[in-house]
Amino acid sequence: MCNFDVARGAGTGTMRRTESPPRGLTEDAVALARDLPDLIEVPSGLRSPARVLDLLTGIPAEQFRNALGVAHDLFAGRVIWNVNSTASGGGVAEMLQSIVPYARGAGVDTRWVVIGGSEEFFRITKRLHNRLHGAIGDGGELDEREHDEYLAVLQVNAERLLHRVHRGDAIVLHDPQTAGMIPLLHQAGHPVVWRCHVGVLDPNSLVHQAWDFLRPSVLQADAYIFSTHGFVWDGLDPARLTIVPPSIDPLAPKNNELTTEQQRAILVAAGLMAGDADPAHAVFTRLDGSTSQVVHRSELAEIAPLQESTPLVLQVSRWDRLKDPRGVLDGFVEYCAPASDAHLMLAGPSVARVADDPEGLDVLNEIEAAWRALPDATRARVHLASLQMNDVEENAVTVNALQRRAAVVVQKSLAEGFGLTVAEAMWKARPVVASRVGGIQDQIEDGRSGELVEPRDLPAFGAAVNRLLRDPALSHRIGDAARERVREHFLVSRHLLQYLELLSALLDREAQ
Ligand code: UDP
Repeated sequence: MCNFDVARGAGTGTMRRTESPPRGLTEDAVALARDLPDLIEVPSGLRSPARVLDLLTGIPAEQFRNALGVAHDLFAGRVIWNVNSTASGGGVAEMLQSIVPYARGAGVDTRWVVIGGSEEFFRITKRLHNRLHGAIGDGGELDEREHDEYLAVLQVNAERLLHRVHRGDAIVLHDPQTAGMIPLLHQAGHPVVWRCHVGVLDPNSLVHQAWDFLRPSVLQADAYIFSTHGFVWDGLDPARLTIVPPSIDPLAPKNNELTTEQQRAILVAAGLMAGDADPAHAVFTRLDGSTSQVVHRSELAEIAPLQESTPLVLQVSRWDRLKDPRGVLDGFVEYCAPASDAHLMLAGPSVARVADDPEGLDVLNEIEAAWRALPDATRARVHLASLQMNDVEENAVTVNALQRRAAVVVQKSLAEGFGLTVAEAMWKARPVVASRVGGIQDQIEDGRSGELVEPRDLPAFGAAVNRLLRDPALSHRIGDAARERVREHFLVSRHLLQYLELLSALLDREAQ
């Protein structure tokens, strides 16, 4: 997938582009700047990427080893800045939590900054997020007024970032929440990469509306990254395009191996399963190598806690309509509950904490209302879990334990950029039933490394889950194939290599 030419050696990379002072802020931006929360730099430690080598074999291992040998020299004296809109919750934060420390561990000074926004700004960016998936969302406007507010907030953020960066630093902006920063940063002479983590394969007029809103900014980036070819927008320059599928970190708390005892104790400590496990076993290793214990309890809507021996069907997602928690509930209630003794758990982050997702609480309330309306016997088989987000790594290891505990993991999204939860469950050798949408299709080979179903076909969804619940041999076979699929294509090592290749090529180009 990645052909980083390690023989090319280290580029010295002095920037030739003359820096011009950034364009002044608009009046709107100046007015906003007073009240807008400042940028937050997310503290990132150092992790040795060499540890991932133990999980690789053959050419990927060799390429990765070679790249690690030259990374430091390639980027000497420069900082690679990553910018997004939240430090926790969601796939982008998840990836940055592992990629940034690994890059630092490879000797590349890499930082992560979170932008500040107003409530109105996040309403607009959520609208953009929904429309980039072809969904109407709150149905609000995306006109000049919204455009002005969006750009004004991002001008302030860009201006603030420019006070932190130095000549020659490269900037990687993530998702629509940051695209409006591109023009100012580019004008200031920095190589700017914009990465789009979301998309749909069959864009409708809503998608085009979001593209039109963002395109004038995006066109000014030096490079754009999409997760899959099918997501690339009309009207972009193919020469500046790179495809980088997301990845998971096999050594992070989210994916690290857990013993059965640990897994059990973590779930009991988090209040997600009944039992009297020794809390001393509810331990996990943090990204910085230290050891911690799971102590925070999740909030649950349930009649009684899940028992240890009960087969579990699990979906882990933000509380977002595009993840179709309602469809999962209905499909389970109608087709799985009558045909099995399994329980369903819908688990998502505590809504109070995911700042860039204003719809989370509404969606959770809706799903809870639907759950309350179920007959008692069915309601007893469905658990709604809001996982604490005070401690992100503790949240991650709790998700890890849940995914390992599940008999079947589902991801019944109506649209999906990639769906990290799918790769996470596959790495844990879980059989996954997921919708045939977006990047999920790059991960699961239907019938071999998972099961794909049409997103609104509840009978097919129910049948696929039931088949796996009934047939442990099939579940094992699919689970094993799933793990190998992730090892080959979706581990962080491949991701780091692709970044190294793209950024070093950009800096080389700047130097000429
Ligand atoms: N996630 C989490 N805690 C939660 C819910 C979700 O850590 O309570 C993680 C999940 O494990 C995955 C990420 O958030 O790593 C979601 O990424 P995905 O690509 O599946 O969806 P997105 O939220 O980016 O749309």
